[in-house]
Amino acid sequence: MNRFLNKGMVATLQRRMASQLLINDSKYAFLKELGIKENNAGVFHGKWAANGQTVQSFAPANNSPIANVQNGNVKDYEIAITEARKAYNDWCEVPAPRRGEIVRQIGDKLRTQLQNLGKLVSLEMGKISAEGVGEVQEYVDICDYATGLSRSLEGKIFPSERPGHALLEQWNPLGVVGVISAFNFPCAVYGWNNALALVTGNSVVWKPAPSTPLTAIAVTKLVEEVLVANNVNPALCSLVCGEGDVGQALVKDKRVNLVSFTGSSEIGKIVGQQVQARFGKLLLELGGNNAIIVNEDADLNMVVPATVFAAVGTAGQRCTTTRRLIIHDKVYDQVVERLKKAYAQFESRIGCPLDSNTIIGPLHNQQAVGKYKASIAEAIASGGKIEYGGKVLEREGNYVLPTIVTGLKHDDPVVLRETFAPILYVLKFSNLEEAIAINNEVDQGLSSSLFTTNIQNVFKWMGPKGSDCGIVNVNIPTSGAEIGGAFGGEKETGGGRESGSDSWRQYMRRSTCTINYSKELPLAQGIKFE
Ligand code: NAD
Repeated sequence: MNRFLNKGMVATLQRRMASQLLINDSKYAFLKELGIKENNAGVFHGKWAANGQTVQSFAPANNSPIANVQNGNVKDYEIAITEARKAYNDWCEVPAPRRGEIVRQIGDKLRTQLQNLGKLVSLEMGKISAEGVGEVQEYVDICDYATGLSRSLEGKIFPSERPGHALLEQWNPLGVVGVISAFNFPCAVYGWNNALALVTGNSVVWKPAPSTPLTAIAVTKLVEEVLVANNVNPALCSLVCGEGDVGQALVKDKRVNLVSFTGSSEIGKIVGQQVQARFGKLLLELGGNNAIIVNEDADLNMVVPATVFAAVGTAGQRCTTTRRLIIHDKVYDQVVERLKKAYAQFESRIGCPLDSNTIIGPLHNQQAVGKYKASIAEAIASGGKIEYGGKVLEREGNYVLPTIVTGLKHDDPVVLRETFAPILYVLKFSNLEEAIAINNEVDQGLSSSLFTTNIQNVFKWMGPKGSDCGIVNVNIPTSGAEIGGAFGGEKETGGGRESGSDSWRQYMRRSTCTINYSKELPLAQGIKFE
């Protein structure tokens, strides 16, 4: 371009392009408070320096560019992994409670920017601001949780069969945890991994989704401040924004001891095989195709709002979104009618995710809108009836109507697939065994819910012949998990568990230690070797 324009013209063009960035609109002043600029380096390894392509991050509400980001390339990744390994060498010897204290400070730092960071998540991902703030709150909560955990990362002591011997377990850090995250939880997924990886003594290299780099940069800046204030090498929490090539470098790298991957089952399958090929450790959090079962004895006053929240919330872009509603034939017509009314009430509240009145924001990008349209066309071609919605809204941004589809077979290919959009397939059953079989017949196994008032059904649902998912709920929606429990799913959801319970063990390696404090050398199983 410069060959045809003189210096003055180039400067004018650059000014015009900069003025189109949302960061220069006073409405989004919170971006600057988070340290976001017009041009941002998307790589941090103790220093902010990137060498990859410059890209723009867009707001799904209007598809306008927010700010520029210079991505990292494979060379930047190489620096980040080297620096993160160096940082690990010191960090692994810091006593766990001291590590916990620093993670506590990260939580406190996030608290000071809770609203601003929540707004950035909302602007860049497209979820409503209450959910954006909620996502940052999850990171704060897991910091508190990890702080407590740092004083209770316990190993067991077992009775030894040999006299004068002690048999015990010691847990040690792994080294570097590589986190590859999805666009739909640009803050919380990293938070879950980051807080647990740090208290367990690891360093972290993060590759966020290519369409949410600004959230990753803002989060890393806050974490950096805390590490520097505590004289900890800030490369401990390194960041490389970029595309699949950076992800591939991380996945294939033996120096990355655990790959924690959150994303689609399609990419997760490739990543899983590649990490396994080098005998690396894996934590996979992949797609879901979650169902709510409404039994004949369910409290329908709870079913309707729970279904709307889980099917329509985050515009259907949660891994735990309810995509299938399996209703007993005795209450089927009543539930469908009530749902249609509830959906209609929300239509006027589809809009800009940063407006406080909005309940339903946009889809993340135009590709997602394309997938929404394609799935609806496929559902209609298979004999499905659109009870509500089914349309893209004629306005700027990526807005669609939440959609209810009836009349499809429970095993129709479109029903078995995860379409990352607010489309709810409504199915019918006549006994609970049949409903459970429908719940379990999909390839994914993330979240599931049964609405019933019968205690016998509850324990059947939780037991060996019940739901085969990682999350098995009763009388609550499929989405909206708390951090205290282990989060994740079975089958093509990948089998990983993050967040609460004993998920911390995945970030550590177990040593079984037998210590002989006697002067004899007895062998186990009474073997005599003489
Ligand atoms: P995606 O699979 O397209 O991308 C996820 C990440 O993988 C991104 O950072 C991407 O850049 C990276 N990537 C792409 N190709 C790669 C490769 N060859 N090697 C290494 N990395 C690569 O997923 P998405 O569209 O960002 O997210 C939506 C999906 O994530 C949905 O399927 C959703 O269900 C799932 N998800 C699951 C959970 C969970 O906890 N189970 C949570 C959030 C999202």
